Amino acid sequence: MIYKRYFPPKILNDFLKNHNDRLDYNILGHSVSDLPIYELNIGTGKKRILMWSQMHGNESTTTKALLDFIPWLLDSNQKNLLNTFTFYIIPQLNPDGAEAYTRLNANQFDLNRDAIELSQPESLLLRSAYDRITPDYALNLHGQRTIYSAGLNGGPATLSFLAPSADLDRSITSARKTAMSAIASIYMALCKELPDGIGRYDDTFNPNCVGDTFTRKGTPTILFEAGHYPGDYQREICRKFVFKALKALINYLENDNEVYSIEQYLKIPKNTDDYVDLIVSNIDISVDGKIFKNQQLAIQYIEELKDGEVIFTPSFHDFGSQLSQKAHRYINLPFDDLSDSILYFKDKIIKNTKFDKLFSVNH
Ligand SMILES: [Zn+2]
Repeated sequence: MIYKRYFPPKILNDFLKNHNDRLDYNILGHSVSDLPIYELNIGTGKKRILMWSQMHGNESTTTKALLDFIPWLLDSNQKNLLNTFTFYIIPQLNPDGAEAYTRLNANQFDLNRDAIELSQPESLLLRSAYDRITPDYALNLHGQRTIYSAGLNGGPATLSFLAPSADLDRSITSARKTAMSAIASIYMALCKELPDGIGRYDDTFNPNCVGDTFTRKGTPTILFEAGHYPGDYQREICRKFVFKALKALINYLENDNEVYSIEQYLKIPKNTDDYVDLIVSNIDISVDGKIFKNQQLAIQYIEELKDGEVIFTPSFHDFGSQLSQKAHRYINLPFDDLSDSILYFKDKIIKNTKFDKLFSVNH
């Protein structure tokens, strides 16, 4: 089933209904707008894994991957896993944000900056689940923008991971070391299939972030970031890689021998934010009546929810005679008469409708 980028609570509700006969789930509590937040329990094993997705409502790719992962887990071939693990899965922590396609919850709070204050009902629900479950591992499932590359010379970061810091010194605590080894195992399992496409996220300590807080409390925590794969703006290819990463991690944790070193974790290229969606060359640009000839124009897509679908609107990012950014796509305008290619800006919005189709994400 293809879900595109918009993943409102209705899709999750339908999924739960369709698997009603073999899924054990309950309502953990309610969001600011009183939507139910579900927790699924799968397996009877001793190793407890808590995972949550869509704490940022517009980060739907990992939730889509959970809809692949959960039926896979329930498959009778995975009996061993279900005897080893108990999974506690909160597939959509921020249903209000998922409905509105926003990062924030209905009170305009970023739930991943609320780990100390716990001012929001969703934050309290996650914390109380954590306190009740006392997980052996925590998986914090997110999505990242298209701007990241997997290292300076890398391609788009389709997946990124982080073993969050537990303190300002970014000490390698026991929990952090365990998470690093687990991430290195995912990297080793997927790096052949996704060369130059796996990155390591910035580990600056922020106690307001949930992953940092759980790591500080001694739980190995793994941040997943679903990112961009060339041409895959609906993130259906990335979704498959997230699913593969989850399977690789579970297979590694099943054996529980920590075979990967800190160095192997640190070898994963560090994310760099040097990508734009599109660079157009050979274009004349007019800003407030002044003409800049034969320029390069960098465009980023802005995601907007319109009539139940996420649309990608080309938006001005930068221009110059030679831009330093990398782009997911390049266009060299073929016009002989450069005056044909003049593009106008007002309030950073691209005004020339002639280019709408050429610059569109589906072109
Ligand atoms: Zn996020």
